[in-house]
Amino acid sequence: MNEMPNCIGCGAVIQTENPKEVGFAPASSLEKETIICQRCFRLKNYNEIQPVNLTDDDFLRILNGLGNQQGLIVKIVDIFDFNGSWLPGLHRFVGKNPVLLVANKADLLPKSVKTKKVINWLKREARSLGLQPIDVLLVSAHKGMGMSDVVEAIESYREGKDVFVVGSTNVGKSTFINRIIKQATGEGNVITTSHFPGTTLDMIEIPLDDGASLYDTPGIINHHQMAHHIDSSELKYITPKKEIKPKVYQQNAGQTLFIGALARFDFIKGERSAFTVYVANDLPIHRTKLEKADSLYAEHKGELLSPPSKKYIEQLPELVRHEFAIKEGKTDVVISGLGWITIQHANVVVAAHAPKGVEVFIRPSLI
Ligand code: GDP
Repeated sequence: MNEMPNCIGCGAVIQTENPKEVGFAPASSLEKETIICQRCFRLKNYNEIQPVNLTDDDFLRILNGLGNQQGLIVKIVDIFDFNGSWLPGLHRFVGKNPVLLVANKADLLPKSVKTKKVINWLKREARSLGLQPIDVLLVSAHKGMGMSDVVEAIESYREGKDVFVVGSTNVGKSTFINRIIKQATGEGNVITTSHFPGTTLDMIEIPLDDGASLYDTPGIINHHQMAHHIDSSELKYITPKKEIKPKVYQQNAGQTLFIGALARFDFIKGERSAFTVYVANDLPIHRTKLEKADSLYAEHKGELLSPPSKKYIEQLPELVRHEFAIKEGKTDVVISGLGWITIQHANVVVAAHAPKGVEVFIRPSLI
């Protein structure tokens, strides 16, 4: 194969196979003298950022590149899937650059939850994961909540330097940047200029008014999320669209909750206790006895227990059991990308079952 040209906007190597990956351009554009990738094309002509994905190797390359730059790193996480969208290791690569942590999708949290409490939780969790952000903000890029505070914070923390926006796929990074472009430029024209001299970081450059720029980096795929194990047509059932209505179950030991056929939660040992389930509102939850759970799953997955529906159930990896002895009250058992279950009482033993490859872990309760 001939060597492919680079995009004149971001410097990415052009490819014509996958529209969701960096450097995509339609095959017909290869005949042109200068080639611009679809992502740069849309930014240039419609002031619109398009999400693209990266492989793990590309991600490492970009992280390495960030350490050599000077500027403010804006790290976006999804508050509904905080750990799944975290980008572990970022702190080792950012060098001396300050990191502004922005948690998106605040509109999904129950309205009764206090912003300050969530911010404090985010600060604690960030620290325990090794990151000391310069500030933490909670926003909804989709609804526009908190966005003017973010723009102000970026302006003050960047001290005239460049801004690099990073995040894993699906955190809402494109929605976020599109909002910022609108706020920052009004109707003005956004153009992508040359890529980084010397290194191709596959970043898209959005000029700010003082000569510095804001760079959009491609989204990093997190393989431990539920989304990678179900058919894209069924993703809508697990992705919450609006404020999550928590469901409370008073359970005795020996009871099980099924979340569709995607996950299962067993109460094994402990006093009668309340379990609060935070998942997309339309996901059906089925309660049964622990002793019947195995046979119920075997006989009814894809039907009574769905999604996935019958058509896709065979694609779902087998469920793997994760047991936890919970010592403290108000602990969340998190199933990456699906949601979490808050255990109100201390001293209980539970087991969460999730598809093989999906991360399951406990954390101090978010809400
Ligand atoms: P990217 O892959 O990080 O660039 O993410 P996108 O901007 O494409 O958004 C991913 C998904 O999250 C889309 O379905 C968006 O509609 C949704 N999304 C983005 N921002 C928000 C938000 O603030 N709240 C909610 N509920 N959904 C959002």
